[in-house]
Amino acid sequence: MPRIERTEGPAETEGVGARLASMLAPGDVVLVSGELGAGKTTLIRGALRELGVREPVTSPTFTIGRRYRGRVAVSHLDLFRLESLGSEDPGLLDDYLTADAIGFIEWPDAAEPLLDSERRVTARVDLVHAGGDEREIRMEIDRGGPG
Ligand code: ADP
Ligand code: MG
Repeated sequence: MPRIERTEGPAETEGVGARLASMLAPGDVVLVSGELGAGKTTLIRGALRELGVREPVTSPTFTIGRRYRGRVAVSHLDLFRLESLGSEDPGLLDDYLTADAIGFIEWPDAAEPLLDSERRVTARVDLVHAGGDEREIRMEIDRGGPG
């Protein structure tokens, strides 16, 4: 069942990311979608803080992703440009989505064909502008297991 939260500013969206992060383990992958400025990077920043990453967290610009080391390994990918290129190099995500790392993917559509069964997509997050500083955040979390 999707859960829906409304936030009224970036700090609250970071808080949603932090709560999500507390449910994650190495090997998990989170797909984060939403329009430009919806708050994808903001939510991921909150998640990475919770995971112990101290460096500034911004969207990767010159590469498709960046790896961080917090209390666990963390990867942050932004596939915005790949969406338009339609690139499907099967090994593209391998450096980032490793078994020891928690992965977050912005603009994940281009990644979907590359995500095989070993890379479990644990959560899908979709952010929508709801006027001014409000955002609606829809989350589906699948921790696996029965039910
Ligand atoms: P995206 O990665 O989706 O393009 P960013 O997280 O980079 O979006 O940017 C979101 C922008 O919107 C930031 O400038 C942030 O301060 C602002 N903002 C305003 N209200 C919110 C909110 N409720 N949640 C997240 N960001 C917000
Ligand atoms: Mg972004």
